[in-house]
Amino acid sequence: MKLCMIGTGYVGLVSGVCFADLGNDVICVDNNLDKINSLKKGKIPIYEPGLSELVIKNYKNKRLNFSTDLKKSVRHSDIIFICVGTPTKRGGGSADLSQIYNVSKEISSSINKYKIIVTKSTVPVTTGDEIEKILSKKNKKNKFSIVSNPEFLREGEAIRDFIYPDRIVVGSNDKKSNRSLKNLYTPLISKGAQYINTSRRSAELIKYASNAFLATKITFINEIANLCEKVGINVEDISIGMGLDKRIGSRFLRAGPAYGGSCFPKDTKAIITTAEKFKTNLNLIRSVVKSNEARSNLLLNRIYEILNKKIRNKKITFLGVTFKANTDDMRDSSSLKMIPALSKKGAIIKYFDPTGYKKEFSKIKNVFNEKTIKDAVKEADLVIIHTEWNDFKSINFKNLSKGKKFIIYDMRNIYSPKKIKGQGYKYYSIGR
Ligand code: NAD
Repeated sequence: MKLCMIGTGYVGLVSGVCFADLGNDVICVDNNLDKINSLKKGKIPIYEPGLSELVIKNYKNKRLNFSTDLKKSVRHSDIIFICVGTPTKRGGGSADLSQIYNVSKEISSSINKYKIIVTKSTVPVTTGDEIEKILSKKNKKNKFSIVSNPEFLREGEAIRDFIYPDRIVVGSNDKKSNRSLKNLYTPLISKGAQYINTSRRSAELIKYASNAFLATKITFINEIANLCEKVGINVEDISIGMGLDKRIGSRFLRAGPAYGGSCFPKDTKAIITTAEKFKTNLNLIRSVVKSNEARSNLLLNRIYEILNKKIRNKKITFLGVTFKANTDDMRDSSSLKMIPALSKKGAIIKYFDPTGYKKEFSKIKNVFNEKTIKDAVKEADLVIIHTEWNDFKSINFKNLSKGKKFIIYDMRNIYSPKKIKGQGYKYYSIGR
C-alpha cells in the first residue's frame, strides 16, 4: 500500500519505518527541513534502539522516503497517517490541536482520489468529527474516510511494541476504511495482535482512558510508597503481593519519581478538560494529576532532608535525566523540576545520561554534563539515580568513588539497601 506519515517524530518515524519494513511504500513527511535532510543522510534525529538500522535498510531499498512536500506526498498515497504533536495548550490543560487542524487543511486541498485519513496522534474524542468537517468543505464525502488508529508504542521499546502490539484499535465509521486498515495490519494480526474495530469516537477515547489508567496505577503505587517509608516496610513487597493478583497485574506498579514523558502528563490533563467540555467531572484523574505534580516537590524535600537542609555548594550528581530509560526524550521529565530547584538553592549539579548533553539545562546555573559515570560521580556529595538505564544497574561504587563515601539516593530501587549500606554508603531509595 502507499502510505504517507505526516509528522516524522517518535510515532511517525517509528510507525513509518515499520510499515515500510512490512513491504509498504511509505513517505514520511515533516515541515522540519533539517530533520528530513538528516534522515536522508541516514542520521536519525531521535534515540530509539534499533531504529537507525531499520531506517537505513528501508531507505536504501526505496520502500521508505522522506519529504517536506505534504501535498505531493498526500496525492501519491492511499492512506495518510496524521502523526503530529498534540501538546498541552499554553496556560491550560486542553490539547493544542493546531498542528492537527493545519495538517487537515493541507490534506483537504490535496485530495485527488479516495483517501483514508487516519489520526495516529492522540486526539480528544470528537476530533475526528472536526477533521471530517474541515475536509467536507472542499471534498465530496465519498472521496475520503476519517479513521482513528491511536498508537500505543512506548519510547525505548517502540519497534517491538509496533510489531508485537497487545492490540490494534481502529475506529472507523465505514466498512471500506476498516477493511483497508485491517489489510494493512494483517502481518501483525497474523503474529498474534488483537485487532479491534470500534466507532471513531471510541478509538479516540480508548487511548486517553488507557493512558489515564496507567498514570493512575503509577501514582497509586507512588502514594503507597510514601506510606511504606513512614511505616518501615518495603514497597517492592507490596508491588509483588498486589501484582500477582491477575485482576491487578504487576506492570506499572513500581514506585519511583513522578511520571513524565510526552504522553501521560499531557493526556491526563487533556482528558479532564475534554470531559469538562461534555459536563463530566473526572475527579479520580484530577487527583492523579495533582498527586503527580506534587511528587517532584516531595522527592525534592526528601533530598533536602538527606542533605540536612544544607544545599548550598553541595555537589549533586544525577545519573540519567530522561523521563525513562532507552529514550532521549526529556519532555516532562521530573529532572526538569528537580535540577533547576536544586540549582536555585546553590547546589552544583553534574549529570550523566547515556543520550548525552541536554539543552534543557543549558541556561541553568551550575549544571554540568559529564561524558562518563566516573566523571559525573567524582567529588559528589550525593548521587541520585534518576533513570533506570542498564548502565546504572551494576555500578561498582567502591571502585568508582575510590573510597569516598557519597550518599546514594536510588529513585529506581535498583540496588539492595542491605548490600550498599554494607559497603559503608548512606543509601536511600523509594518506599523502603
Ligand atoms: P514529535 O514531536 O516527536 O513529532 C511530531 C512531528 O510532527 C515533529 O517532527 C514536527 O516537526 C512534525 N510536524 C508538526 N507540524 C507539522 C506539519 N504541519 N507538517 C509536517 N510535520 C509537522 O511527537 P510524537 O512524540 O511523535 O507524538 C505525536 C503524537 O503521537 C502525539 O499526539 C502523541 O501524544 C502521540 N503518541 C506519542 C507517543 C510517544 O511515545 N511519543 C506514543 C503514543 C502516541
